[in-house]
Amino acid sequence: MKKLEEVLQDWEAVIGLEIHTELTTLKTKMFCSCPIEFGAEPNTHTCPICLGMPGALPVPNKAAIESIVLAGLATNCDIEKRSMFYRKNYFYPDMTKNFQTTQGPVAFCMRGHLDLEVFGAAANERHGLGSLEVGESSDNIVRTEDGYVASVGITRIHMEEDAGKMVHVGGVDGRISGATHSLIDFNRCGVPLIELVTEPDLRTPAEARLFMQKLRSIFLAIGISDCSMEEGSMRCDGNISLRKRGTKEFGTKTELKNMNSFKNLHDGLAYEICRQAEVLESGGKIQQETRHWEPANKRTITMRVKETADDYRLFPEPDLAPYDLSDEFIDNVRAKLPELPHEKQARYMAENGLSRSDSALIADDVAYARFFDEALKVDASMAKPVANMLVNEVAAHINATGASFDELKIDPAGLIGLCKLIAGGTISNKQGKQVFAEMVVSGESAESIVEAKGMKQVSDEGLIEGIVDEIIAANPDKVAAYRGGKTGLSGFFIGQVMRQTKGQANPKVVNELVIRKLEG
Ligand code: ADP
Ligand code: ZN
Ligand code: MG
Repeated sequence: MKKLEEVLQDWEAVIGLEIHTELTTLKTKMFCSCPIEFGAEPNTHTCPICLGMPGALPVPNKAAIESIVLAGLATNCDIEKRSMFYRKNYFYPDMTKNFQTTQGPVAFCMRGHLDLEVFGAAANERHGLGSLEVGESSDNIVRTEDGYVASVGITRIHMEEDAGKMVHVGGVDGRISGATHSLIDFNRCGVPLIELVTEPDLRTPAEARLFMQKLRSIFLAIGISDCSMEEGSMRCDGNISLRKRGTKEFGTKTELKNMNSFKNLHDGLAYEICRQAEVLESGGKIQQETRHWEPANKRTITMRVKETADDYRLFPEPDLAPYDLSDEFIDNVRAKLPELPHEKQARYMAENGLSRSDSALIADDVAYARFFDEALKVDASMAKPVANMLVNEVAAHINATGASFDELKIDPAGLIGLCKLIAGGTISNKQGKQVFAEMVVSGESAESIVEAKGMKQVSDEGLIEGIVDEIIAANPDKVAAYRGGKTGLSGFFIGQVMRQTKGQANPKVVNELVIRKLEG
């Protein structure tokens, strides 16, 4: 098979995503009062309504409607005041009602969009970027200094309910083929789910991944879900087709399932682009079907040939009245909209002088952003050193230990204390890293760790000067060699001073003094 880069020379990929998000932060299910709890004992959170018993009537969860409206406002959608629920009929053992309650042609949220900032390596997958000037636009993108901004349309966000969970026993990897029997857990039945559908506006696997990342950070910021791709509370299906560069008409698409991480989403789409190109280039046709991405084997396989919407016999749900959302309801939800990640990022750059990548890293992660915002309240003048600590030390510690942010034993004031010791020259940068490593696990203050270890950096010029003089006097041959042009020897003298002071001398002061004495 050809490589992605090569395929994208001749073919343009057209990608649209369908993203399901469980509203895990709600207390109860969509149409009944059963609790929502991940990992509970199977079939303990069920009732006649979510099991679809005869005569049971659904009652909509108001908090779930608030959540979807919030999601719509955060993604620039129009909120439809009038919408209703439909029945999507199908038989499968994971749903005892034999229909899923979902929405029809009009969803709560319609016609939204998100702007994706694509830069660095992610921008390389976009074809023809080099021929655009900064500020120039083409299709849905505008060229920037180091990449481009792509505007991606959101068709709709509708409300539906989740089905139960099937556990296949006896096969490989819990898959149905080869299984001897299956178990069903109905706890997930009726958990509110929102489905966001994008326009086919994405053109590269990198854009698809960035869209998903951006959406996840927004949904986390507005607090509607824990958005766990591993646990399945956020799931993404990728629709993809190819067309020859320069042509307008869409090709036949396939739909990819099981992309349960950002990497899988990217790699699955990249594989599928190459597979489709191979089929088309050898004169074949793409079959409209659903395919399963197998990360271990690095391939996609056919799951089922696509059914059409007609097969589901969608009709209005007779047990639920149509909605008529009031302006007051929508305004109340709008008032709950927090500052969104891209707004935070813009603020960190404009008001605190952070770089784009640092500010994005902090703003996109709820825990980092909360910490940083608190730190700004304690002492905004320390914004940059605190940001540095977050994106370097904190991120490295979390990566290395797998700890979550909340487990770290540091608070904003404590981290600022450490940054001040470094900024004031009491300890060096290197010592700062050691102190940090100790702080996060012990929870002690930087000051007391520095005190206990006798770590103070020596900045006293007189004291350092005395040591420099001694070392210079003890090494006349090296001094002569330095003065004869071997200036690299300054490193030897600096190293000696650092050793004599057990690493506690202020490197800047040592450096200046050594050079001054050697030159003099
Ligand atoms: P279906 O009826 O098969 O569910 P939809 O029109 O509802 O298809 O679109 C589902 C998703 O597929 C949307 O995200 C849409 O943007 C995307 N999509 C539609 N047509 C194509 C295509 N030809 N190539 C790639 N993606 C597409
Ligand atoms: Zn129930
Ligand atoms: Mg569809």
